[in-house]
Amino acid sequence: MPPQIPWGKPSTLADELRAIIGEDGVVCKPEELLVYECDAYTLEKNLPNFVVLPRSTEELVAIVKLCAKHNVPIIPRGAGTSLSGAVLAVTGGVMITLSRMDKILSVDCRNRRALVEAGCVNAWITNAVKSRGLLYAPDPSSQPACTIGGNVATNSGGPHTLKYGVTTNHVLGFELVLPDGEVVWLGTKPDGGEEAGDYDLRGAVIGSEGMFGIVTRVLVRLIKAPQAYKTMLGVFENVDDASQTVSDIIAAGIVPGAMEMMDQLITQAVEAAYRFGFPLDAGAVLIVELDGLAAGLDKQAERVIEICKKNRAREVRTAGTEDERALLWKCRKRAFGAIGRLSPNFLTQDGVVPRSKLPEIMRYIRATSEKHGLRIPNVFHAGDGNIHPLVLYDGAAGRARHSGEMHCARRQRDRRARHWRRED
Ligand SMILES: Cc1cc2nc3c(=O)[nH]c(=O)nc-3n(C[C@H](O)[C@H](O)[C@H](O)COP(=O)(O)OP(=O)(O)OC[C@H]3O[C@@H](n4cnc5c(N)ncnc54)[C@H](O)[C@@H]3O)c2cc1C
Repeated sequence: MPPQIPWGKPSTLADELRAIIGEDGVVCKPEELLVYECDAYTLEKNLPNFVVLPRSTEELVAIVKLCAKHNVPIIPRGAGTSLSGAVLAVTGGVMITLSRMDKILSVDCRNRRALVEAGCVNAWITNAVKSRGLLYAPDPSSQPACTIGGNVATNSGGPHTLKYGVTTNHVLGFELVLPDGEVVWLGTKPDGGEEAGDYDLRGAVIGSEGMFGIVTRVLVRLIKAPQAYKTMLGVFENVDDASQTVSDIIAAGIVPGAMEMMDQLITQAVEAAYRFGFPLDAGAVLIVELDGLAAGLDKQAERVIEICKKNRAREVRTAGTEDERALLWKCRKRAFGAIGRLSPNFLTQDGVVPRSKLPEIMRYIRATSEKHGLRIPNVFHAGDGNIHPLVLYDGAAGRARHSGEMHCARRQRDRRARHWRRED
């Protein structure tokens, strides 16, 4: 059940919310609220009292003002793919979901920008502009589901962050509804393209996880799609060799669009799910994607293959067609979805280490896994040292049979947090 509302009669608030956005815009039945009890961090759950689905900034402003009047907590939500519990209604409250504000409002190819509503799904932007030779660069692996508002709030990166940067590098400006309902525009305005005269506060809001307000419309930068790609798959006996390859490629002055690694356990799960043809006995596989002008790309690819071989790669495959490239990326980007083959539950960690420390951190994770008897597969953005150890556990067993496993998974999370603080 949702928590008791400490701010007056729930029925009054529900009626007031319905008066603003109609019956179909307010979710309040406990069984329907269950969808919103957590995000992709599933270890902790709590129900909001209401979920509201506004269709416009005006409706959203009215909701925010109402909640401010009653002193009710508000929780903005995009697609709920956050891995950190950022969308958890810790003390209940009103969850404001942007999924009905999902339009691409305009595309300006000449100035390479698009104006979208915050609930617009990330991948829809590139899909809408790729026929014009453009793309929206930040590509979190969750991009078929996550929203631009969520990306702004978490300053999302993705496989191509290595070369193209994170969300903050591709957001020109946005509309923000402040906690008292005031609407402001920060950064470049959609009409004239000129900077607003005041302080540039975009940086303060991007990555602030909804703490300063709710993003409703976003002006994003589009880039010219690369003329050509060379996508390679290096197969290694172990993670150390693959990690060394990552450092050596950068040291050679090559900046690939992406370098992504999967260790043996996750490769096996991905292969079982998508049948790409990954070798099941490989210690690690490394995806290296070069992009840019077609001229010169072959030479760079030869150099990458040389570096892989120098680091004892068993083989290096190159995607021969766009379909092969797309399939390889599908496998990588849906790797989390394949975890169900290994375990009913998992806890995703998200950390960053210097590239040169990748072998060390992978050894640490392996030792932790062995010490506590927990399986921890790894799939990560190796190019920028962004690791994702996935601690597997059985939540149902945690409640019923082996209560230790869930507790242990949680302890690893806390222990690692302490470890990083010491390292700092
Ligand atoms: C399979 C998978 C792969 C992933 N891969 C990546 C990756 O490669 N890179 C990466 O960075 N992340 C990744 N993530 C994490 C997640 O997808 C991103 O953080 C994403 O930006 C969240 O978007 P969302 O729409 O789901 O936001 P939500 O999860 O709904 O919300 C995330 C945070 O943003 C706030 N918020 C949401 N919308 C708004 C808004 N309109 N205004 C203000 N605040 C708002 C919420 O309150 C919350 O604090 C992955 C997650 C999954 C499940």
